[in-house]
Amino acid sequence: MARNTGSVCRMCRREGTKLFLKGEKCFSQKCALAKRPTPPGQHGQARQRKMSEYGTQLREKQKARRAYGMLETQFHRTYLNALKMKGVSGENLLQLLERRLDNVVYRAGLAASRAQARQLVNHGHFLVNGSKVDIPSYITKQGDVITVGASSRDIELFKAAREGSARILPKWLNVNFDELKATVDSLPERSDVDFALQENLIIEYYSR
Ligand code: SF4
Repeated sequence: MARNTGSVCRMCRREGTKLFLKGEKCFSQKCALAKRPTPPGQHGQARQRKMSEYGTQLREKQKARRAYGMLETQFHRTYLNALKMKGVSGENLLQLLERRLDNVVYRAGLAASRAQARQLVNHGHFLVNGSKVDIPSYITKQGDVITVGASSRDIELFKAAREGSARILPKWLNVNFDELKATVDSLPERSDVDFALQENLIIEYYSR
């Protein structure tokens, strides 16, 4: 399956919630969902009919997959890994999604969106515990220290990050903007996810 190359704001309108795919625009009055909160398409407004149980589960899965910018195979693999962990599968799934390196970079305010964070990681701009990691799906652990590589620190984007992000940082990350460094202080909890999601519906979708 190819990655979506169309308007990302359509995805938010389709899912009826902010997925924060457009960087600073998502936090401003220009957010497309704030201006047009109806599903996309000519008949978007009229299409708001009652959804089947399957449809509701599918939409919740798509919402999470799109928010984290993952392909179906990657997302399904994460679900299977969540099942193997101890504890509640839905919460495990959310924790694995939040711990992805691209998400940590985004949540730490070192990238404007998860898509930009993924690209920056792919291009080798980040170190984890001093070693270059260019795999966006890398799962961070408690105590991991993520830094911007020495040769990347003068990139305009990181200079702006050093001036501080207006974003509210999650409590499980400790960020030092002067040093362009984020430390995973603890593992993320259910309440740390920054958009509305019913993870139990995703588990039900894949358990069918
Ligand atoms: Fe677009 Fe961001 Fe608003 Fe979603 S949250 S509609 S991506 S501006």
